[in-house]
Amino acid sequence: MSIFSDSFQETAGWNLEHSYAGLPKLFHRSTLPIPVRQANFVIFNQPLASELGLKAEVLKENPSLFVGNQLPTGAAPLAQAYAGHQYGHFTALGDGRAILLGEQITPKGERFDIQLKGAGQTPFSRSGDGRAGLGPMLREYIISEAMHALRIPTTRSLAVTSTGEIVRRMEPLSGAILARVAASHIRVGTFEWAAARGSKEDLQALADYTIQRHYPELAGDEQIYLRFFESVMERQAALIAQWMHVGFIHGVMNTDNMAICGETIDYGPCAFMDVYHPETVFSSIDRNGRYAYGNQPHIAQWNLARLAEALLPLLHVDENLAIEKANESMHSFQGRFQKHWLAGMRSKLGLFTEEAEDSDLIQALLDWMQQSKADFTNTFATLSRAQPISEDSEYHSWHQRWIKRLTHQQQSMTDSLQLMQRHNPNYIPRNHKVEEALSAATEKTDLSIMHRLLEVLSKPFDYTSSLPEYSRPAESGSCGYQTFCGT
Ligand code: AMP
Ligand code: MG
Repeated sequence: MSIFSDSFQETAGWNLEHSYAGLPKLFHRSTLPIPVRQANFVIFNQPLASELGLKAEVLKENPSLFVGNQLPTGAAPLAQAYAGHQYGHFTALGDGRAILLGEQITPKGERFDIQLKGAGQTPFSRSGDGRAGLGPMLREYIISEAMHALRIPTTRSLAVTSTGEIVRRMEPLSGAILARVAASHIRVGTFEWAAARGSKEDLQALADYTIQRHYPELAGDEQIYLRFFESVMERQAALIAQWMHVGFIHGVMNTDNMAICGETIDYGPCAFMDVYHPETVFSSIDRNGRYAYGNQPHIAQWNLARLAEALLPLLHVDENLAIEKANESMHSFQGRFQKHWLAGMRSKLGLFTEEAEDSDLIQALLDWMQQSKADFTNTFATLSRAQPISEDSEYHSWHQRWIKRLTHQQQSMTDSLQLMQRHNPNYIPRNHKVEEALSAATEKTDLSIMHRLLEVLSKPFDYTSSLPEYSRPAESGSCGYQTFCGT
């Protein structure tokens, strides 16, 4: 397919392997990307390319590699099969518009999936067109890269490439393809697929493969599949706590959008909360608030219960005993989440030590924030600068309580403020700034606003700059702000 000589491709740094393709046929279908009219880079992530061992200066000359018009040396494209509970209902899914080119082995020996999202129809497309719009792919680029800078595990974005084609949605959109990089794309839904459609051997092959790829430390454990489940639970508990710490709302936590490696995946209708309220929802189709900000830990646990169900045949030959083991483990989720959440919240408040009343102190601040409709990010950022937040007496008494609590530890106020500034972002992807950047990029082909936004978001904990334009919430707030899935 490639018109380039191998020597050209060799200089690009591709080092693709295909370990996932070694799984039983049930889990994948060989599928070529469908060529597009005209490939042009909209954005290319040079630092990420370098980390992957790819030569940006070579690749930047060749956008056709990022839309599937040509294939990188050693690519063996496939679509992955998976199922998922979407809004509580089980469905057979699979990569309907994404194609895995292979696993890039980096100079450090790490393995990352390189996937083209929007690369055309696959055997799993159902009624979908296999394509993606420029706005939504740039949105995923901006937010995933912002999450990475916030030190939150996430898939990354290597490039967004326009296709020169129109994608038909509610209104016509310019077509684009996202090159997505992930530790892997194995989901809770991949295990549900194995349990629903495969044999016990298929399920075991998937579990063994996933353990080797993401949890190799478990090798040799007598109860390896139960330990695997607990390890996935631990990473999810840590991940969701990190989302909560920055006000991130995933928006579509279906089991097919929960990655076993513990990275945040699938930036569809996600958004950052501005005014603090646990019931905040931005997704247009999440009418019952299933995936609301404050419901995320609960939903993560619900999704993990679906993983446990899928794993039952591996936990014990006796189904009742398997259920007992799974239930016992499941019960630890709440404690695991609470531990990560509390640790992060202590850092957000400059606390180095642990006291039993800390939960109360934290909750009192959150209650005040909810009542006063305070901006989540700016409340913590302002506290981190030791600046006044409010004149009201309830806040005043909370503040006194907090200052008193700080004196219970050896560290100075300066130490606390430094800790807080490392944990409370000054800059997050504010909904109105993301929309502004996307409108300029898609309607006026002006990419400068997005580049400037990405630059600010690459240093979220920068307290040396003051860029009110990026830290201010929208004038009207995000009340009524809506996000959309599957575009
Ligand atoms: P998502 O809501 O993006 O997590 O996608 C849910 C499922 O729908 C996945 O199986 C996707 O591959 C599939 N899907 C989403 N958009 C399209 C599309 N335009 N064409 C085909 N399949 C799609
Ligand atoms: Mg998905």
